Amino acid sequence: MNKEEITAFFTILRNENPEPKTELIYHSTFELLVAVLLSAQSTDVGVNKATVHLFKAANTPQTMYELGEETIKEYIKTLGLYNSKAANLYKTCEILATKYNGEVPDNREALESLPGVGRKTANVVLNTAFRKPTMAVDTHIFRLSNRTGLAPGKNVREVEDQLIKRIPKEFILDAHHWLILHGRYTCVARKPRCGSCLVYNECHYLDKTDE
Ligand code: SF4
Repeated sequence: MNKEEITAFFTILRNENPEPKTELIYHSTFELLVAVLLSAQSTDVGVNKATVHLFKAANTPQTMYELGEETIKEYIKTLGLYNSKAANLYKTCEILATKYNGEVPDNREALESLPGVGRKTANVVLNTAFRKPTMAVDTHIFRLSNRTGLAPGKNVREVEDQLIKRIPKEFILDAHHWLILHGRYTCVARKPRCGSCLVYNECHYLDKTDE
């Protein structure tokens, strides 16, 4: 896609949804961090079902640490990888409570040093909570970026770098959410819904469907 097409692409998505939001439910930066940490290989709906009870029991690093690893595990046992997620979450809460005064740090290095927090999770927290121009590339964004010609890349990091480079500044803070929602509901993996796609004209995919 060229510059004009990329601008048109995001203008259309912005007009349709001026204030896009993550579908994960959270009420603080800490809750957002927990929800994203738990979302690996789980749906947002599944994570929300678990966190609604977990956050009632504990919604700060200190109180979640005091719950203990086994109790955390009970709250999240409906999620995939719950054993390792509980272990990571417990250790992360301990570090946040003891080293960061119960606050979620606002820089990449500190975030990525927390157990269970990789580049993608750090990007989501930096973007969503701290409004930094970062781009978390999940499976939807990776597929959509390559398929449409928006930001082709062989791996997640290449796509991330291309997106940051190509997306105009005015869209960068919300681009992550527009792309995820578009990939989740329209440009889906098996049969993209090209027939009802708002960015049909800007997209370079060669095998567009009629649906
Ligand atoms: S036209 Fe089809 S392939 Fe292109 S973005 Fe829309 S749904 Fe995806």
